[in-house]
Amino acid sequence: MNGITNVDVINVANDIGIDVTDDHISEVLRRFDSEANNDPTATWDLIVENILYSIIANCLNCGHSQTLSEENVKIDNLGRHLICEQCESSFDVD
Ligand SMILES: [Zn+2]
Repeated sequence: MNGITNVDVINVANDIGIDVTDDHISEVLRRFDSEANNDPTATWDLIVENILYSIIANCLNCGHSQTLSEENVKIDNLGRHLICEQCESSFDVD
């Protein structure tokens, strides 16, 4: 399937209780086709949900929601860590 819209993404995000920004929506739309190809049996809304979870992380310390990006994810020999832009604590992401 292709041709999901911004509204589709927003509806899925609302269903799972995530506030999305325009950046999140464009990232979901950008990744959608390749994710759908990777998992042809998944429904489109499940694919959107998985992408949202993979690009958004809530800080374990302050709850701040932010997008995972190359700028704020640090990789070292212990794995991947996200640095919270609000409280600057660091926590693991997978
Ligand atoms: Zn935080």
